[in-house]
Amino acid sequence: MSRPTYAVIDLAALRANVARVRSCAPQQRIIAVIKADAYGHGAVTVAQTIESTVEAFAVCCLEEALILREAGIQAPIVLLEGFFHPDELPIIAAQNLQITLHSSQQVELLLKNPQTTPLNIWLKIDTGMHRLGFLPQYVSAVWKLLQPAEHIAKPIRVMSHLACADERQNYYTEQQIKLFTEVTRHLAPTETSLANSAGVLAWTQAHGDWVRPGIMLYGVSPFAATVAKDEGLQPVMHLCSTLISVKQYRQGESIGYGATWRCPQNMPVGVIPVGYADGYPRHAPSGTPVLVNGRRVPLIGRVSMDMLMVDLRTQPNAKPGDPAVLWGRSLPIEEVATHSHTIGYELLTKVTPRVKRVVSG
Ligand SMILES: *Cc1c(COP(=O)(O)O)cnc(C)c1O
Repeated sequence: MSRPTYAVIDLAALRANVARVRSCAPQQRIIAVIKADAYGHGAVTVAQTIESTVEAFAVCCLEEALILREAGIQAPIVLLEGFFHPDELPIIAAQNLQITLHSSQQVELLLKNPQTTPLNIWLKIDTGMHRLGFLPQYVSAVWKLLQPAEHIAKPIRVMSHLACADERQNYYTEQQIKLFTEVTRHLAPTETSLANSAGVLAWTQAHGDWVRPGIMLYGVSPFAATVAKDEGLQPVMHLCSTLISVKQYRQGESIGYGATWRCPQNMPVGVIPVGYADGYPRHAPSGTPVLVNGRRVPLIGRVSMDMLMVDLRTQPNAKPGDPAVLWGRSLPIEEVATHSHTIGYELLTKVTPRVKRVVSG
């Protein structure tokens, strides 16, 4: 037996979440965002599972795309940060990857380095995120440079990214949608993409031709106020372990590093072999829920590198070997994230390689 800490990746839940995207955006094509190793779930596994049910994938960069191509994934793959150096262009062309163009430097390099196979590009427009992309006033000039170039595939597609889509009612999002519609109206022929998961779920006006869901595929709500179930989603990752120690301590004794937590009475304390080197947040405070035997108990004291401790007063009969869940179906990751002042995205992407991924469904 080895260390009993593992992440179950529920592929049936993943398929159900893709179906949920499809039902929200039935007219649109789906670009499944699987950057950062599919938000920690394993990009190759995720891609193989849903390749036949989506139209394209998106990753951050060439290196992430090549891992998918080497595993035999043939669907179009969008590189969300485009390219960084012209050396990448021949590989991008040969591997049939699509690039996001967000800067005049990239446009210049692209026009100076024609490839024998036409490149598929997404022109990124900055409608208010103010991260990557061309400001609206420069879009038509860039379009005029790109449109006549024969080594650029047509249609040239356009995308933008929402800054505040995670709030269901938001004036800023309305403004971004309006601006995107205005700027793209004069570009023809083209295809558009604006909606991330929050856009898919809450902003029908932003659906365009292609939707770009990420977090919802993994069964996590993109909204601050809801959990997966409220959005018709099913958690894909279940971070699991077991108790490896249960001991009784006396009133007043302290637990863990810094001796920050003291037993208010004589009580049992359990140890679970999950720590910040597994990706569990070190700053999760005492009181963060953990499931032991399917029931909630509070985390106590500081999270260590390899372990954390729980208050077992409500489960005096708990013993080593009993199952523990750090997040999953019965313990929403959104709740753990809120306790730790972060978001489910960060928790998922920080689960380290030490945690075995066990595929089910
Ligand atoms: C990560 C990303 C997405 C997916 O966002 P979610 O909130 O995870 O749905 C979509 N578009 C771009 C440009 C991204 O970087």
